[in-house]
Amino acid sequence: MSITSFSQLPLNQALAQRLVDLNYMVPTAVQSVSLAPALTGLDLVVKGKTGSGKTLVFSLALLNKLQPECNEVQALVLCPTRELADQVAQEIRKVAALIGNVKVQTLCGGTPIEPQTRALQHGAHIVVGTPGRVEEHVFNGSLMLTETQTVVFDEADQMLDMGFTETLESILVYVPEVRQTLMFSATYPDKIMKLAKQYMREPEFVEAKEEQA
Ligand code: ADP
Ligand code: MG
Repeated sequence: MSITSFSQLPLNQALAQRLVDLNYMVPTAVQSVSLAPALTGLDLVVKGKTGSGKTLVFSLALLNKLQPECNEVQALVLCPTRELADQVAQEIRKVAALIGNVKVQTLCGGTPIEPQTRALQHGAHIVVGTPGRVEEHVFNGSLMLTETQTVVFDEADQMLDMGFTETLESILVYVPEVRQTLMFSATYPDKIMKLAKQYMREPEFVEAKEEQA
């Protein structure tokens, strides 16, 4: 189902109001085709160019089911680079502002691990990170993913090109099989299709009409 207005979505009040406050008036093309299935909990592979508004798709999907009173990592977002992870974490915090007390923790390499470990001890609802550092925290036991309901691969084609396939696979071993997995990519190379087939449950492939060849 394709939507023309955010009001057609089953969003909780804090998110619906926040979209109004942020002046997000109409869904972008990719949002109009992917938000409804994303919010019903389906596994999706979403194709869209840079700047098409993909971050909001997974932000709303994971935040709409987040339980702030539950002090566990409920969503994991994996990004190819630290810069992207920082941007994504910022966008999630921005969209979550009216929910109150949502803890978003970034876990990226190139910086000491200890402060991240201490931060995780104080609890995190959402982790946004790069594969290598996230794997390290999982192996250390500092990051528990047993209550994680949503896994997002952002810029998946780029992550796979960087050689993170095995790292992603080893992280997924620690996430419950019953979950929502959302994959975002600018292209659909074979590696993406293979990962989707192996780790997603009957994923739907969506892309904006104007982007179809
Ligand atoms: P992508 O991940 O597809 O490259 P982003 O999610 O980073 O794109 O979105 C690009 C920009 O568009 C961001 O600054 C975001 O805040 C803005 N944006 C996203 N959706 C909307 C919308 N529906 N209306 C207005 N601005 C939006
Ligand atoms: Mg993006």
